[in-house]
Amino acid sequence: MAERPFIYRFTKDLRLDEHAGLAAAAERGPVIPLLVLDDALERRLKASPRRAAFFCAAVAALDAELRERGSRLILRRGAPDRAIVRLARATGATGAAWSASYGGEAAQRDRKLQSALEESALEALIVHDAPAIEPEESTAVRSAAGSGYRAFAPYFDVWCELPIPSHEQPLLLRFVQAEVDDETLPAREEFGAADAVEAGPAVARRRFERFMREDVLQYAAAAIVPADDRTSHLAADLSFGTISARAIARRVRERSNDPFRLSEERHSLRLFLRSLARRDFFLQLAWFFPQTAGEPLQEKMRGFQWKREHPALDAWRSGTTGNPLIDAGIRQLHATGWMHPHVRAVAASWLCFDLGIDWRVGRDEWDRRLIEDEPALATGNWQWIAGVGADMAQYPRIYNPERQRRRYDPCGEYVRRWIPEFAHVPLAAWSANAAKTSQLSLALYASDAYPAAVVDHALAARAFLRRYREFVSD
Ligand SMILES: Cc1cc2nc3c(=O)[nH]c(=O)nc-3n(C[C@H](O)[C@H](O)[C@H](O)COP(=O)(O)OP(=O)(O)OC[C@H]3O[C@@H](n4cnc5c(N)ncnc54)[C@H](O)[C@@H]3O)c2cc1C
Repeated sequence: MAERPFIYRFTKDLRLDEHAGLAAAAERGPVIPLLVLDDALERRLKASPRRAAFFCAAVAALDAELRERGSRLILRRGAPDRAIVRLARATGATGAAWSASYGGEAAQRDRKLQSALEESALEALIVHDAPAIEPEESTAVRSAAGSGYRAFAPYFDVWCELPIPSHEQPLLLRFVQAEVDDETLPAREEFGAADAVEAGPAVARRRFERFMREDVLQYAAAAIVPADDRTSHLAADLSFGTISARAIARRVRERSNDPFRLSEERHSLRLFLRSLARRDFFLQLAWFFPQTAGEPLQEKMRGFQWKREHPALDAWRSGTTGNPLIDAGIRQLHATGWMHPHVRAVAASWLCFDLGIDWRVGRDEWDRRLIEDEPALATGNWQWIAGVGADMAQYPRIYNPERQRRRYDPCGEYVRRWIPEFAHVPLAAWSANAAKTSQLSLALYASDAYPAAVVDHALAARAFLRRYREFVSD
């Protein structure tokens, strides 16, 4: 009797190599590759056309790789349970596997789908593919397994010691050319995306290789200096799984353990590993504390009164707060779908503390702009900045945006790149300004179009801290 196939439903794991989900499906039989465009995915793609363009390009690239192996990606639109059950009946497949979602409604949908398939007598496998190290692996090391880590430092210590599994099994991977009707793959135009982008496993691999060859040595500086564009820019690839976090983390670990590398490079590699571990850390937070998609991890901060409105909220949204570093970051985000990591922290801090605006407002605003699709990382980072999430300190860290600009963009290279109103400000003015503390002196050089600071940072930060202290000590 012919071996019965098994369905693999691609979600945010759009590649064929080093793939935990595909490996699990392939152990059960030849694989039928499926992608389901359900309402939830359609809504997310429509909300962010740039993200949709990336996704559609990655899906087309995945289909092309499958065709080279004599198969193709089967697309279905609508509810995943119906699509999978029908496809299984048409092909004789015994079940379906897919990779786990982290946090919130997506994780609930996974569990509902699993029950629905099992009720239809199909095997339903949810596999961890996104993190380099699965959430349960790190908690298994603790005696009280199952509760997850709420602080990054102990998590990182454990993460560094755990082996990174490999699912590279090309000989096992056999794909089926299923004899079923075709639906056309999604095109970026249906989500309102005008411009095409390059995406897919081959593009992601090239991006990573270039980073390792040319940029990784400078990562320590690039992660903090906004004008330095040499962070990896792998966020979107990691979030759609066009590259495997395990493959990246393994390579970086190996290199960082090489005693013949310059200590400067080893330092940068170690910081890059920290970034990858931070990703796993926030994924495990979302896995073990799914309610944090909507409310703070810190129970005692759940009643804190954030504002939903402020007269300066639109200035933050549009990059016209009068704080050059923040405005440059927001404009970079609008222009490219990406913002430098350090500027994200400063811009988020200003929203939460200078305006007292709810971190969820900021998170949701950026969600419509970013290409990367990692709700768990967005939530984890926003909560962490707002002082209501992981690693809660006695007081939240409130960034002074002008001090940050003077320190990390002293000659205004980044600010001038993204704020045309500053393009004509002579270099000398920036360095003279660096010695002063007044942000107004910069505004003197700018054209009338650039606003003075819309909020007095010192006053706003003090007022927030008073309110925060009162709340925490109650
Ligand atoms: C307020 C705020 C919001 C953020 N929102 C998101 C978001 O929506 N989606 C997102 O992917 N990242 C988010 N980050 C984390 C980080 O800023 C981005 O991952 C990073 O800027 C992406 O650029 P890169 O790929 O060049 O990163 P690199 O610095 O090259 O790092 C490599 C990878 O490590 C991971 N990583 C790095 N820093 C972090 C971090 N702080 N937390 C978790 N993972 C990290 C990312 O997957 C990143 O691609 C946010 C950070 C802050 C402070």
